[in-house]
Amino acid sequence: MNLSAKYWFLILLLLTVSCVDNLLVMSQMVSPGYALAIAFISSLAGWAWLMKSIENDQQQITACLRNPELARPGLQRKNFYGNIFAEAIHKMEESDSELTTTNQVKTMLKARVNSLLKKEALVESVLDNLETGILVFDAKQELDFSNQAANSFLITESDQDLSTSDSSLSLGKPAVEKTVIPELAKLLAKTIERREATFRRRTEFEFTCNGVSSQYRAIATNLSDENQAALGTVVVVENIGEEADEKTQHAEFVSSVAHELKTPMSGIKAYIEMLLDGDCEPDEAEELYGFINDQIDRLTRLVNSMLNLARIESGVVEIKRHDHELNDILKTASDVISPTAAEKEITFTAELSDMYLPVFVDKDMLGQAIINLLSNAIKYTPNGREVRLRSRMEDTSAIIEVRDTGMGIPENSLPHIFDRFYRVPENNRSAAGTGLGLALVHFIVTNVHNGSISVQSRVDEGTCFTVTIPLGHKEQKRKKQLAPPANA
Ligand code: ADP
Repeated sequence: MNLSAKYWFLILLLLTVSCVDNLLVMSQMVSPGYALAIAFISSLAGWAWLMKSIENDQQQITACLRNPELARPGLQRKNFYGNIFAEAIHKMEESDSELTTTNQVKTMLKARVNSLLKKEALVESVLDNLETGILVFDAKQELDFSNQAANSFLITESDQDLSTSDSSLSLGKPAVEKTVIPELAKLLAKTIERREATFRRRTEFEFTCNGVSSQYRAIATNLSDENQAALGTVVVVENIGEEADEKTQHAEFVSSVAHELKTPMSGIKAYIEMLLDGDCEPDEAEELYGFINDQIDRLTRLVNSMLNLARIESGVVEIKRHDHELNDILKTASDVISPTAAEKEITFTAELSDMYLPVFVDKDMLGQAIINLLSNAIKYTPNGREVRLRSRMEDTSAIIEVRDTGMGIPENSLPHIFDRFYRVPENNRSAAGTGLGLALVHFIVTNVHNGSISVQSRVDEGTCFTVTIPLGHKEQKRKKQLAPPANA
């Protein structure tokens, strides 16, 4: 029974009770007081029944609303309120689920856009941190993107008007108001023009950036989609200055090696031809054999020095750095060199620091470097003069000095003294050599031990090489790193 039927039923019931009451009073079967009490009790009972019925309905609605199946269409509801509320709730839930879906889509889209923006920022920052310049042009040859490294290859269109009158080079978005330098514009134009023949072209050019001129290589690549429709062109520009320098150095090295080997070899060939002629007296022949022997010694020295340098530089020789006391290494080097000094009647003095000089070095390599410096000092110092080896502590470094009183090095030769195969022309005749000894010393001190080497010299007065090696044992450094800060 729905609510209105219940109301009507209650009203009819109360009317019937009041009629029966009136009849009973009129027929004097009951007193008016009793009739009033009967009417009051009947109304109260009817009202209680109605309230109870409404309460039952409400309970059913609540149960119905709590039912997870409520949202299912076509579900039979038990009563009027249930039907209304269930329907409303169903509608509410439908629109709610639509709302949820929209919100979810919005949230998902937001997250997706954020992640794409993050990725884009990451890609841009990676591209901006590249040393290689990247320029991307769209299918209309308009500049779409350029990273920071490529900025130096962009010029404003007004600058370009001044630098070239060729309108075919006018590339770049008007909004950006920038275009590429003529070398790249030409490469781009050719790459696009010859798209059918090849999808990639390259060029090398010299360019001055911030006042520094260098060699660059640019590679342009046409981009197309899966249907071979043109998407644009990407140009990658690399500074190949170092590569070019390395190539030049390599060529110079090979030519120096060839030259150094050629000189003794042509000497040997000439002496052998003289001997083969058979015109030589026995003592002349002996002299020629002596020359040949010297040249072979020179070749052996050269090959050994080259091998030594190449093996150390290329890392074939393992670097074994350990904790040592510097003066121990210097004493060993002094012992090796003393007989050579004595042969030339050179006064050799080792003035080593009284302090303990802890160093973390490859004992053999550093020893070899000191021996090279001492042997040069003795080689280029006339007989009877002096050579000194000193060590001392200075701040956080150990200093080694090799000082001689020899022929010295002219000022114009000082900048080249550590170059491979460099020999001071003025000193060339006074001693045999390869010009590789100081290059090796420089490598051992700077590259292997993170130290430094410098030279001061005066012609006919002498030369002083100063080597600086960082002080400290590895073990101490490790302990220092592990120790907690003093104020902790
Ligand atoms: P080399 O085998 O010719 O000695 P180095 O590389 O050891 O090769 O030295 C390069 C050049 O530097 C030498 O040829 C020499 O002219 C010069 N030189 C090196 N040390 C001294 C020195 N103590 N006094 C004068 N000239 C030196």
